[in-house]
Amino acid sequence: MTKPRSIRFRLTASYTLVFALTFALIGIAVWTALEHSIQETADRELRTRLTDVKRYVDSFTPDDFRHLEEEFREESLLSQSVANIRIADPQGHWLFRTASAERWPDIKPAGNYQTIRVGHAKIRLLTSPIRVGTVQIGLNIDEFEEVKDGFLWTIGLGSPLLLMIAAMGGYWMSGRALRPVDQISNAAAQITAQDLSARLPSSGTGDELDRLSSILNEMLRRLQSAFQRVTEFTADASHELRTPIAVIQTTSELMQSRPRTADEHLAAWSRVRSETERTSNLISDLLLLARSDANKSDLDFHSMDLAETVCSAVDEMRVMADAKGLSLSINAPAACVIQGDPAALRRAVCIMLDNAIKFTPVPGSVSVKVSQGAQALVTVTDTGVGIAEQVRPLIFERFYRVSKDRSRQTGGSGLGLSIAQSIVKRHQGDIKVESVPGKGSTFAIVLPIRH
Ligand code: ADP
Repeated sequence: MTKPRSIRFRLTASYTLVFALTFALIGIAVWTALEHSIQETADRELRTRLTDVKRYVDSFTPDDFRHLEEEFREESLLSQSVANIRIADPQGHWLFRTASAERWPDIKPAGNYQTIRVGHAKIRLLTSPIRVGTVQIGLNIDEFEEVKDGFLWTIGLGSPLLLMIAAMGGYWMSGRALRPVDQISNAAAQITAQDLSARLPSSGTGDELDRLSSILNEMLRRLQSAFQRVTEFTADASHELRTPIAVIQTTSELMQSRPRTADEHLAAWSRVRSETERTSNLISDLLLLARSDANKSDLDFHSMDLAETVCSAVDEMRVMADAKGLSLSINAPAACVIQGDPAALRRAVCIMLDNAIKFTPVPGSVSVKVSQGAQALVTVTDTGVGIAEQVRPLIFERFYRVSKDRSRQTGGSGLGLSIAQSIVKRHQGDIKVESVPGKGSTFAIVLPIRH
C-alpha cells in the first residue's frame, strides 16, 4: 500500500496542476489569436496589392508585359514589398515574373491563399484571375514567423520557471493555511484521560479551523465534566458500599472476640441483616442507573392506567406513613391511560412518597393527586421540611443529600431522585419541584399522553 501523501503536498500539487492547466490554456489561446492575426494581416496586405496590380495590368495586352517590370518600377508598384508577382496566360505560360518569383515552384493554386516554402523563406501566396489570365502575388512572412518563434521560446523557457514559482508559492501558502492544524494536533496530543483540562488554541479569526477548535474545546469541556461526574460517582459509590460492609465486619469481629449471650447474637444478626439489605438495595440501585446510562433499559412499555399504578404505590407506602403517624391521601378521580412501564413508574412514585414521608415531621400530611390535561400529572405534596432554593437543582444528582446525617438516619443513599428522574426521562417526561423551606414541597411527574 502506498503511503498517503500529506495534505500540504496534495494542496501544492493540485494548485500547481490548476496553474499549469490555466497557463497552457492561455498559451494556446494567445498562440491561436497570434497566428490568426498574423495571417489576417498578411492576407489583407496581399489583397491591397492585388487591387493595385489588377487596376494597373487590366488595361494591358500580353505584349505589354515585356515592359511591365519597368512600368511597375516607374509606378513604384515594385517596391520591396510587391517584389513577388507572376502573371500567367490562360494556358499557363508565364507572361511576367519578377526575379524572386522565378524561384517559386509551379504549384496548383489550392484556393485563393496558400503558404509555400522557397528555400528557407516562407511565402504567403494570393492567386487571383485577371483579364489576361492569372496573377499570383507573394508576401514573405518570415518576419511574422519570427514573432511566433519568439513567443514559443518565451513560453518554452518561461513556463518551467513560472511553474516552479507557482509550486513554491503553493507550498508556502498551504503551509501557512495548515499551520493552525499542526498547532491543534500538537495541543490535542497533550490531552490525556488524566488531564482533560488542556484546551486547543484558538486564533479568534472565526475561520473554519477556529470554529473546529471551539467545537472540539466544547466537546472537551463536556467530556471533562462527564469524566469528573463518573469519578465522583465511583468515589461516592465506593464510600457508600464501604460503610455497611465495615459495620458487618465490626459486628462479626465483636461477636467473635468473646462469648456472647443469645440476645446479643440476635441483635448482631439483625444488624448484619439490615446492613446486608442496605448494601443489596444500593447495588441494585447502582445497577439500575448503570443500565439506564448504557441505554440498556429493560422497561416494558404498554398501555397502562397511571391512576391505578399510583394508587397501588400509595397503598404500599401507607404502612410507612401510618407507622410514622402521618396522614396520606390520594385523589385520582379518573383513569389516566398512557404508554409506560407500570412497575418502573410505580417505583418512581414510591421514591417520592418515601421522601415525602421521611422528610415530613409529625404532625403532617402527604397528599397525592393524579390528573390529566394535555399531559398526565402526578403530584406528591407534603408538609415537610422543604428544600432551599439553592439546593433544589442538586437533589437529582447521584448521592446528593441535603443533610447527610438525617439521610443516614432515614436510610437514604441519595440515589432515589436520580432513579426516579431516569425512569421519568425514559418515558419522555419530566419531574418538577416546588418547595417552601419549613412549609413543605410538591414534586410533580409530568408524562406525555400516548395511548
Ligand atoms: P435520599 O435517598 O436521601 O432520599 P433522594 O435522591 O431521594 O435521596 O433525595 C435527595 C435529597 O433531596 C434528600 O436527601 C433530601 O435532602 C432531599 N429531598 C428529597 N425529597 C424531599 C422532600 N419531599 N422534602 C424535603 N427534602 C427532600
